[in-house]
Amino acid sequence: QEKDYQFMLRTRNPGGLIPAQLYTALDDLSKTHGNQTLRVTTRQGLQIHGIIKKDLKMAIATVVNNLGSTLGACGDINRNVMAPAAPFRDKPEYGYAWDYANKVADLLSPQSGAYYEIWLDGEKVISGEEAPEVKAARQKNLHGTNLDDPKEPIYGQQFMPRKFKISVTVPGDNSIDVYTHDISLVVITDRHGELRGFNVLAGGGLGRTHNKEETFARAADPIGYVGKDDVYDLVKAIVATQRDYGDRHNRRHARMKYLLADWGVEKFRKQVETYMGKPLQSFKPLPAWRYQDYLGWHEQGDGKLFFGLSVENGRIKDEGDFQLKTALRKVVDEFQLPLRLTANHNILLYEINPQDKTAIEQIFQQHGVVTDPEAIDTLVRYSMACPALPTCGLAVTESERIMPSVNARLRDLLNSLDLPNESIVTRMTGCPNGCARPYMAEIGFVGSAPNSYQVWLGGSPHQEHLAAAYTEKMPLEQLESFFEPLFVFFKQSRKAKESFGDFCHRVGFPALREFSQGYTMP
Ligand code: SF4
Repeated sequence: QEKDYQFMLRTRNPGGLIPAQLYTALDDLSKTHGNQTLRVTTRQGLQIHGIIKKDLKMAIATVVNNLGSTLGACGDINRNVMAPAAPFRDKPEYGYAWDYANKVADLLSPQSGAYYEIWLDGEKVISGEEAPEVKAARQKNLHGTNLDDPKEPIYGQQFMPRKFKISVTVPGDNSIDVYTHDISLVVITDRHGELRGFNVLAGGGLGRTHNKEETFARAADPIGYVGKDDVYDLVKAIVATQRDYGDRHNRRHARMKYLLADWGVEKFRKQVETYMGKPLQSFKPLPAWRYQDYLGWHEQGDGKLFFGLSVENGRIKDEGDFQLKTALRKVVDEFQLPLRLTANHNILLYEINPQDKTAIEQIFQQHGVVTDPEAIDTLVRYSMACPALPTCGLAVTESERIMPSVNARLRDLLNSLDLPNESIVTRMTGCPNGCARPYMAEIGFVGSAPNSYQVWLGGSPHQEHLAAAYTEKMPLEQLESFFEPLFVFFKQSRKAKESFGDFCHRVGFPALREFSQGYTMP
């Protein structure tokens, strides 16, 4: 008899959109066939853990029949396309980001019917109409690439060397960690709010392997600008460049970031331009990036409201008096609101009539859910952790289950050093794959052995550059003795309003080490 293999199911939902009907179906599935919880991912998807193999077909069919999909949420293919979750109806650039996240996701959807044959007995369910220009762009041959596979015109028979990640955002909004994707497109509008084109960044990616220096986290480079009519050719040209020149022999060297690192930006851009058949234009100036989480209540700009809910570690669950899962289901059932998942594993509910605000707040509060973002400790509010143990096979140590206590210990330490209310971006993963993007955090914990973490320091509060590995192994029991000297040095030598990450970046690791070594615990 076959073992009861368990699977994790992950949705594909560009820009984090989960319609009410899909949320209801996923919530039901998590109760009947999952582990009673739902997990918001750091790529704006939802995961259900614990589905038994024999139930997979039913589970996937349920998702697809309720306006969802899992196609391309895993595998060596374009993954979920990210976009800022905020539904600002009076800021057209946000609408363009959603629109093009959808269109790019459609452009790069695999065309094979295998998904539908395996999971839906061949019944092709289309959850949304594909734009005609997307279909035309997919079929159009690129200049200089010989791939002409009528069945799979972009991926061909071999698909990609490795997973591929794309985001679309608006100038200044870094809610999607713009430097961490294979491609990031930044919407550029004219002064009337009309879409003109996109700034293009390429070659970001965070996954690495401990003690293998040839693997590394890398921030994306700006490579140019394209007019809106050329954006599909540009995306295809970059995908084709990675498809044709990415490393297919060594999976640890197969992400497109290594192609950028090996070739340099100039050579990469030239190859992309060859496939496009025209040159890229110069990257347009942009304002500084700001991380935004949109928690709490906001105007959409069309008379309706949206509400951002903090989900610690992305886990939608009921536990004792904390009944987040029950409350969320009640709100979705009663008000039929769509959800947008954020890249920081939080949830935005939107299309809310102002007269429903009080009732919605009451439901959450009656179920022990904090609705005022100012009442949440900033360490918790800005932190992220990957699932790791017990559900991820790659985990070498804890992440999600230990992160609340790590944040609490850091807060106690900061308080004891008279640094109250200090806001620091902390992120943790159970292995160096880096799903919760620890390499961009002010303090990043990367599991290196049971109860032991590599510590990354020096990222910025708005994720504008990479952090760096400060120590290879910090046993968790040494958390306080490790951070106390660093926080004391920070308190003594910071500039006005300087954050901990910016401080570490400015003074440099030799100065941090020197201070730590000379520090005597009181
Ligand atoms: Fe991702 Fe590693 Fe965490 Fe698993 S343990 S979720 S692979 S970072």
